[in-house]
Amino acid sequence: MSLALYRRYRPETFAEVIGQEHVTDPLQQAIRNGRVNHAYLFSGPRGCGKTTSARILARALNCERGPTPTPCGTCRSCQELARGGSGGLDVIEIDAASHGGVDDARDLRERAAFAPAGSRYKIYIVDEAHMVTPQGFNALLKVVEEPPEHLKFIFATTEPEKVIPTIRSRTHHYPFRLVPPTVLREYLATLCEREKVPVESAVLPLVVRAGAGSVRDSLSVLDQLMGGAGPDGLTLARAITLLGYTDATLLDDVIDAFAAHDGAAVFSLIDRVIEGGHDPRRFVADLLDRLRDLVILAAVPEAAGTGLIDAPSDAVERMVAQATRFGQAELSRAADLVNTGLTEMRGATAPRLQLELICARVLLPGAGDGDRDLHARLDRIERRLAGDAAVPAAPAPR
Ligand SMILES: [Zn+2]
Repeated sequence: MSLALYRRYRPETFAEVIGQEHVTDPLQQAIRNGRVNHAYLFSGPRGCGKTTSARILARALNCERGPTPTPCGTCRSCQELARGGSGGLDVIEIDAASHGGVDDARDLRERAAFAPAGSRYKIYIVDEAHMVTPQGFNALLKVVEEPPEHLKFIFATTEPEKVIPTIRSRTHHYPFRLVPPTVLREYLATLCEREKVPVESAVLPLVVRAGAGSVRDSLSVLDQLMGGAGPDGLTLARAITLLGYTDATLLDDVIDAFAAHDGAAVFSLIDRVIEGGHDPRRFVADLLDRLRDLVILAAVPEAAGTGLIDAPSDAVERMVAQATRFGQAELSRAADLVNTGLTEMRGATAPRLQLELICARVLLPGAGDGDRDLHARLDRIERRLAGDAAVPAAPAPR
């Protein structure tokens, strides 16, 4: 079986880590300036490069031609710490999720006193550091407070606030963040190229969405799609079915029906959603995402060019037209209704009914909350006056 993409393309240098320049640049500069701290805290969401960067930092510190921000890659230490290398004796990775106890920390403290076996530093990478118990941290405190010259700590965690303050204050804290969609999409595109797998342009935004800003999750989705790809590579049709997304044309049709206040069309589309075997919750979540994009396009027409909207250009054109037809106030009102509906759908026993009720509320203009409904009504009246025959008269307010 082939090695997972995430492992095969795991970065070996800071330059290869994507979307974290705000962290990797100052970190490299600190190494260049010879201002290396003895303890680091890498925080941030899962799967965006904390542990990988910790390994790269270890490699940078222990390179025989270092410490250097650009490890040579050829010395013994660099080779041991390379992707697929043996790891070396002096870089010790601890997963605190399985070693949370105080005994391990005591043991670690005793072993940490010994000089490194063959490298400049002995480096402990403590993954999932928030799982270390308070007792564990207290046992570690002494070595983190007054570490021997040869000792470095890198703590990686999704929850930095759970690392006790006395430890945290001894570290240099580098917050990692989710990778922006455009950066992630370009990265995935280069991987497809390197893997020589053709990919339809609309597929990658879906992968990015499924991965929700995590490089690891996005790569595992891409892996799965590549695994099931035929000779045409990654096709949109297959990606939609595999990832369970709602077909964009279905969303287009529903939005058009809402904009035209065509109840018959809306409810027959719901029927199509259910008959097509789609999960109603998924559909509502996707509808909300679409409304979000439209709200933004209505407020910021050039949003697609600035990366606020992540969609292929033909889709953006369609959405701009939809946003105009809908009107800003109505869009925002519809998004609110769908958002509330989605929350209420959690745990609902009759999701189809819920979906129908949400749509009924969106179709009903001005169901009674103040100014915004009035704006929505005005939007519609203006569009009627402008000669848009598709807009029926709003029912009179009660
Ligand atoms: Zn080296």
